[in-house]
Amino acid sequence: MATRRVRRPTETTMLDLLRSSGHLSRVELAALSGRTQPAVTPVIKGLIGEGLVREAGIERISRGKPRRLLGLVPDAWYAVGVQVDRTSSAIVVIDFAGRQVAGTRLQGSGNASPQTTVAGLVDHVRDVLASAGVPHEQVLGAGLVTHGPQDRERGVLLTAQPTPQWSGFPLAATFSDGLGLPTLLENDATAAAIAEQWGGSVPVDTFGVLYMATGIGGGVVVDREPYRGRASNALEIGHISLDRSGPPCVCGSRGCVQELASPVAVVAAAFRQAATAHRLGLRGTPGDVLADFERIARAARDGDRTATTLLEASADHLAAAAVTLANLFDLATFVLAGPAFATAGPLYRARIEATLRAEVLSRDLITPDVLVSTNTSTAAALGGALHVLRTLPPRPADGAVPLTTTPPTATSPTTASPTPTDRPAVPAFSTGAP
Ligand SMILES: [Zn+2]
Repeated sequence: MATRRVRRPTETTMLDLLRSSGHLSRVELAALSGRTQPAVTPVIKGLIGEGLVREAGIERISRGKPRRLLGLVPDAWYAVGVQVDRTSSAIVVIDFAGRQVAGTRLQGSGNASPQTTVAGLVDHVRDVLASAGVPHEQVLGAGLVTHGPQDRERGVLLTAQPTPQWSGFPLAATFSDGLGLPTLLENDATAAAIAEQWGGSVPVDTFGVLYMATGIGGGVVVDREPYRGRASNALEIGHISLDRSGPPCVCGSRGCVQELASPVAVVAAAFRQAATAHRLGLRGTPGDVLADFERIARAARDGDRTATTLLEASADHLAAAAVTLANLFDLATFVLAGPAFATAGPLYRARIEATLRAEVLSRDLITPDVLVSTNTSTAAALGGALHVLRTLPPRPADGAVPLTTTPPTATSPTTASPTPTDRPAVPAFSTGAP
């Protein structure tokens, strides 16, 4: 039986550096990875032999002999990232260099069953791969990204969100069986943090991510790696209680950030002013939460005072969570990611940054900064795909998918990929307000 070789840390580091930097010389790879050139050279030779790295030109320097540059082989492998949320989903395909080669946005799961949702997503992934001309056998695997809490090793959600059927459902295994590819379950905010570290433009190696889709999550990258805690359910900042006598939360607490600041809370606040909801054209159904939030964000961007006040109240609650996170993890940089920040990002950025600069304990040492992701709507899906490239070693040359030697968090398909018999109930997503 074909077996997978577990990739060594130095190999992963070399690939990560080339993925985030583009082209580097052996000297630069050694310096950036903190290793010696004699230690790096055989690793690079091995990666070139595997067809993952190639010579990519000459770097002329003022003194000394020119240096040969190295780069990743983009079409060596591909990975799929799928972000699924109650009100929005996204699919991306990236090449081995981490560049997005295809993608689409879809409606969320709504209250559909996990079986129906997975079948729909699998069908859409097949369509996206086919339209991009990416051969199935060249796809390393899929990163399935959604909210927590999760049991990543078993690939299941530990919450009855969006419906009780989802709790304990074998999400990654079902997706893997349907698509015929290894599938890794990942937290959406953590995935967004991975995307910002290895595919984004964050200028530091330690930073926080504030993630907002239907709900709110957080991520922290420490020295270029996501902080995962004991079992990868860290940084659930949506459940920091800001008001112990506030509204009850699904988590069992009261007055959580999520209950006060999420798009669901903002839209609900707008509906408490019936005239505002009507004027902004809000629909008010659960499936329209992100579209309604986007309508409010666009109105605020266009100068609507009431819409601005609604978002500022949300941003202030999120800022309180950011201050807590900054003080806990000694952070000075935050990135806003997630589809809710598509239009509202700049308003939240300014509001949260001002609060951090006024309240973080270490602000006199380093002035806190807040950035808006360059991929607000697809950051989590991109991170899911990057997680696959960073985690799953390439398959053997015969293309066979091994059944027994995947890493513990990967769910390997045990059957040939079936063709779904019914078309998915996940129609194409129409972004934003009409
Ligand atoms: Zn809560």
